[in-house]
Amino acid sequence: MTRKVYMDHTASRPIDPEVFEAITPYFKEIYGNPSSLHSFGLDAKKALEESRIKVTRLIGAEKPEEIRFTSGGTESNNLAIKGVAYRNKKRGNHIITTTIEHMSVMNTCKYLARQGFEITYVPVNNQGVVDIEKLENEINEKTILISVTYASGEIGTIEPIREIGKLASDNEIYLHVDAVAAAGKIPINVEDEHINLLSISSNDMYGPKGVGALYVKKGTKIHPFIHGGGQEKGLRSGTENLPGIVGMAKAAEIAEGEMEAESKRLRLLRDKLIKGVLGSIERSYLNGHPTERLPNNAGLRFSYIEGESLILSLDMFGIQVSSGSACTTKTLEPSHVLLAIGLAHEEAHGSLLFTLGKQNQEEDVDYVLEVLPGVVKKLRAMSPLTPKEMMK
Ligand code: PMP
Repeated sequence: MTRKVYMDHTASRPIDPEVFEAITPYFKEIYGNPSSLHSFGLDAKKALEESRIKVTRLIGAEKPEEIRFTSGGTESNNLAIKGVAYRNKKRGNHIITTTIEHMSVMNTCKYLARQGFEITYVPVNNQGVVDIEKLENEINEKTILISVTYASGEIGTIEPIREIGKLASDNEIYLHVDAVAAAGKIPINVEDEHINLLSISSNDMYGPKGVGALYVKKGTKIHPFIHGGGQEKGLRSGTENLPGIVGMAKAAEIAEGEMEAESKRLRLLRDKLIKGVLGSIERSYLNGHPTERLPNNAGLRFSYIEGESLILSLDMFGIQVSSGSACTTKTLEPSHVLLAIGLAHEEAHGSLLFTLGKQNQEEDVDYVLEVLPGVVKKLRAMSPLTPKEMMK
């Protein structure tokens, strides 16, 4: 049987067995509605509020009521950006974001531009770091929000959030941070980093899919989009997804406890993979920042080949990876993030994203390093773009 090496954790993660165990009673035994007044309701409410506390701890928030549960990162990003835009439009209609945001931020901003908001996309350098000076220059009296990713899931670069937070707070502008790719992997402190709104997603921390949270700092003015019974302090109506929420909180608790040791372990594996690939495959390069990057992210690119053919060839060897943002692989367009760091279309197309996870061991990295050079060589031999001298 072929060996299975899953290195596509940005696209999807298995649920942690401890999380799975923690949530099962919430399907069968603790099924009350947190809004009900009877004891079944109270048990559910208790679990809901305990979950809020666990998420609060992971991101260094002050108060559990600053956490609002949602259906995932996409909803949190939509709620934060549209919510601030509509609630604060009398103050101004200008939003600043960057060129490397996830599609749930990009497309929300595009939508708001059609509604009359002005959006500025601040560029990044060729390692994916946001240009703070340019960001500062774009601030004007109409700016109400800055939205920046904590770290890009696609190129792994970690952004200077503390400095951006200071800039936003000095100018009395709200800062929203998409921390879906970063939460549970690197330390986050919304208080120290002057963050007003922060999005996280459960599955990115080995929790169940379809659940997330938005941190809303006390006093931040934001408009709701889902109207109904007024759950989540009126910001997100609808009966709470209690098994999902309990699972996400358990995942957050585990991630907080394991973060230091697991990041260290993953960094070693990641660096072995990067070094091994760059050292054994001619014309291979690293995407993103060499050191300021997520511990599990190895975004690489290879000249003269298509990422898609690499994915399919590696799959035959039992290795699962992605070509870039797993969320946008439906289109054949090169990733906007890879173009934003200055790659040409063909360079972006030759990119391959390895995202490591808990179950990956050193032998998995060794196996990839054993298989990949041969696969690249074979595909290059078939490509009309490969220079003849490289095939000798
Ligand atoms: N932001 C980032 C940085 C992501 O990587 C993702 C996808 N994991 C999302 C937002 C969307 O999150 P979700 O799939 O939970 O809606």
